[in-house]
Amino acid sequence: MSFTLAIVGRPNVGKSTLFNRLVGKRLALVDDQPGVTRDLREGEARLGDMNFTVIDTAGLEEATDESLEGRMRRLTERAVDMADVCLFLLDGRAGVTPDDQLFAEILRKRSAHVILGVNKAEGAAGAAGVIDAYSLGLGDPIPLSAEHGEGMADLAAVLMPISDEMALREDTSPEVEVDLDEEGAEETAAPRITAKRPLQIAVVGRPNAGKSTLINQILGEDRLLTGPEAGITRDSISLSLKWEGTHVRLFDTAGMRKKAKVQAKLEKLSVSDGLRAVKFAEVVVVLLDAEIPFEQQDLRIADLAEREGRAVIVAVNKWDLEREKQSKLKDLKESFERLLPQLRGAPLITVSAKTGKGLDRLHAAILKANEVWNRRIPTARLNEWLAEMIEMHPPPAPGGRRIKLRYMTQAKTRPPGFVVMCSHADKLADSYKRYLVNGLRESFDMPGTPIRLHFRSQA
Ligand code: GDP
Ligand code: GDP
Repeated sequence: MSFTLAIVGRPNVGKSTLFNRLVGKRLALVDDQPGVTRDLREGEARLGDMNFTVIDTAGLEEATDESLEGRMRRLTERAVDMADVCLFLLDGRAGVTPDDQLFAEILRKRSAHVILGVNKAEGAAGAAGVIDAYSLGLGDPIPLSAEHGEGMADLAAVLMPISDEMALREDTSPEVEVDLDEEGAEETAAPRITAKRPLQIAVVGRPNAGKSTLINQILGEDRLLTGPEAGITRDSISLSLKWEGTHVRLFDTAGMRKKAKVQAKLEKLSVSDGLRAVKFAEVVVVLLDAEIPFEQQDLRIADLAEREGRAVIVAVNKWDLEREKQSKLKDLKESFERLLPQLRGAPLITVSAKTGKGLDRLHAAILKANEVWNRRIPTARLNEWLAEMIEMHPPPAPGGRRIKLRYMTQAKTRPPGFVVMCSHADKLADSYKRYLVNGLRESFDMPGTPIRLHFRSQA
């Protein structure tokens, strides 16, 4: 089931660039009958495992008798009315302009479902724009770079529940979750179907680590083999299901391909699907074989997950085969710290996919990691904390000139990202940056999750 996304925003913020990235060559022009101005473009977009229609208000710049404001208003309203959801795009380098505010006003009045995107945010350049964007009161902005393809996973993550919601609207069979307004009102109230956003989990690891066995165990015996059934929907790369009461979407690639060869579509999947799964997951479970843990391939995928900013959990499988569990665990923890220092504090869980032992702890660790990944720390608390950190250890003074850390705010979540305004950001030593990152982890109880810290110069 598909939905329609309208990209709106003032000229030059990058709407067409994003449109082209989402649509690629699958372009269809609407309104291209003779005599009609081609002011809305429509195309079939693909992002992650979602297909949807995207509308771009491309014709804004065309010269007409109409005022730009009038034209913007009219086109935007039309696009909004055609769409299920609007992506309101800002230019992160320009900050919020009066025109942007006008758009925000239109969208608010139209009570459209709005996602706020801050484009041109590649590198650290858009950080200020991201902070600025909060002032529009349209929710958490997503930093994007249409030109460089950054932030697409975050965009996919916010679109996913909308996609699911559409699917639920289509399918009103008894398996869908139904929320009633009041308990016990089943008889009278019309069920209000709400899409519970599934937690997206990728299970990655070397061949034979036990990925398929793990997923089968989570699903219940061999249901993976028999295809869709009550409560399970499947597509080429993911499975939606309830795991101990949590609505999850599991990405498995190698395993599924192996066991579901009947599905011609799955055969076409390439090896890069593991990487793709990481990009679209919120939590990545790196599954190791206890007999041969931390091989090159394991390290590479764990590192990739960290660089992509996912919450990472290391699960050591086939624990049922271990005799010396205590000493083995000690060895594993040492190897983990030494080989994956970038994942400091990430949970290490021992499991047996075969017997199901440890899966309850894995489930709990996944929920906790996701909670940390989504955590937002109030600005006031952050700045109190920053003052304390500076007092304990003032930043070094290169060339005798002290670097002043003035102010800090959390610019994003998933993973947590912070911006520190300071003088001479370029001169701040890496060791001091690490001091702050590690301090954030400890003070705010954020083990494991990647933490992004940007420093912005402000005279
Ligand atoms: P539109 O008028 O909103 O459709 O904007 P365009 O897509 O035509 O983009 C306007 C300008 O911004 C062009 O020069 C693009 O190359 C540039 N641009 C678009 N996206 C990005 C981006 O992510 N980063 C940077 N630095 N420039 C971008
Ligand atoms: P995948 O390639 O990662 O999907 O791995 P599979 O799930 O196909 O498992 C590879 C082999 O390891 C199979 O022979 C499984 O039976 C075995 N295996 C998987 N998990 C466990 C486990 O927890 N304990 C034991 N003893 N064997 C396991």
